[in-house]
Amino acid sequence: MKEKYILSIDAGTTSSRSIIFDRKGKQVAISQYEFQQIFPNKSWVEHDPEEIWNTQLKSIREVLKKSNINPTNIDSIGITNQRETTVIWDKNTGKPIYNAIVWQDRRTAKYCESLIKDNNSFCVKTFFYKKTGLILDAYFSATKIKWILDNVSEAKDKASNGEILFGTIDSWLIWKLTNGKHHITDATNASRTLLYNIHELKWDSDLLKFLKIPKEILPKVVESSQIIGSTNILGEKIKISGIAGDQQAALFGQLCLNPGDVKNTYGTGCFCIMNTGEIPIESNNKMLTTIAYQLNGKTTYAIEGSIFIAGALIQWLRDNLEIIEKASDIENLAKTVKDNGGVTFIPTLSGVAAPYWDPYATGSIIGITRDTRKGNIARAALEGIALRCREVIMAMEEDSNTNFSELKVDGGASNNNLLMQIQSDLLRSKVIRPKTTETTALGVAFLAGLATGFFKDLNEIEKIWEEDVSFIPNNSNYTKDLINLWKKRIKLSLSK
Ligand code: ADP
Repeated sequence: MKEKYILSIDAGTTSSRSIIFDRKGKQVAISQYEFQQIFPNKSWVEHDPEEIWNTQLKSIREVLKKSNINPTNIDSIGITNQRETTVIWDKNTGKPIYNAIVWQDRRTAKYCESLIKDNNSFCVKTFFYKKTGLILDAYFSATKIKWILDNVSEAKDKASNGEILFGTIDSWLIWKLTNGKHHITDATNASRTLLYNIHELKWDSDLLKFLKIPKEILPKVVESSQIIGSTNILGEKIKISGIAGDQQAALFGQLCLNPGDVKNTYGTGCFCIMNTGEIPIESNNKMLTTIAYQLNGKTTYAIEGSIFIAGALIQWLRDNLEIIEKASDIENLAKTVKDNGGVTFIPTLSGVAAPYWDPYATGSIIGITRDTRKGNIARAALEGIALRCREVIMAMEEDSNTNFSELKVDGGASNNNLLMQIQSDLLRSKVIRPKTTETTALGVAFLAGLATGFFKDLNEIEKIWEEDVSFIPNNSNYTKDLINLWKKRIKLSLSK
């Protein structure tokens, strides 16, 4: 019998990727195509759904060619995707009626504010939070759907006739992969729409009524690991059996399967997410509550905190201050000094999310003296990223009432060993970087393979998961001063 593989479709914000994994969870081949970012207006961000589909299909075909694997040897397909991004298409023609409105798009921010202001009689924010675990914000799908329904003339007529469908990118790709047979999403993606009741596990009719969104346009919600149908785009019938939003897929791919397990992705920003087990936790620190995954009839929840600027701070030092040529130079520059020389770098260059949620916060470099060198600034920048992550993780630990013991890391900036060591020192916990850093695609490969029996159970997955390096906290006391200064100085960056 020929060896079998899993095909992960990773539909990201800037590119469509396809990755093939073997039974040992090893990456066999990858193919990636970027697609256009469309900025029609200030703070608007769109994608062309047809381009997403075409680049995805191209990458699927290419990855098979590159790996020399026959479609008959693909056990199943898993799909992971940029979350919240909203597509509405015509049910009959299969054509999008408007571009995809991307999660970064802020066009409905004013609308969200007006909902809060115009409904003094009851607290709209609590109404949404209690049901969805999210804050009422333009980031999530609901107000993006509303915008299309209210502003695209085709939508108005067709919505009342039940002729249009809404989906996040997973739904859109599954619709295309199955030639319009399946209109579905999974619970992790549904939990990012601001319309899904994460306690009752269903689309919430009160919220739909409040926003005047017809229920008929919403997809059916399935488990993250379940055979939902098959595709024959490659000539053979291949099962689709895993779906998860990107951050949840990464949590799974990092094997954060127990309450208190945390992963942090160090990319342009940081996405930090903690498994909180079978009970949704209400945060006292303004974190988001979300569905981590659904597996074997069980729902696992998570809390999530985002950090807008992480690797982007290193880009700023490269492109604006020009003290390094490439991002990875930051590590050696920071090593030219023994410490930060009293400098604190608050990296909140574009507002700050949990636990402050202050969109007007700015960044600052504080504590400069005549002998401050660029090495001190570099070191303070790495510490600033790690301090910001620490405060989010500490808040999550407090919310969830768990003792987390180790942090799993991935993303471009997690290759910086000094940053990872500082993170470990600050958290006083182990920081673990895995061998496969494509944790998002790996996570959904695990979910797909568990549904078909390709992977027998979680034990098998735990056996094949491999650590690359781990960072153990130093006993040094330097972090105490860092934390104390941070607590004082972050206040100077906030707008109020
Ligand atoms: P994204 O998926 O958000 O595009 P990536 O995971 O590709 O991000 O990581 C790229 C980010 O990581 C960039 O912002 C870059 O500045 C930063 N980065 C890359 N390598 C390093 C490094 N060695 N040290 C610190 N930051 C780095």
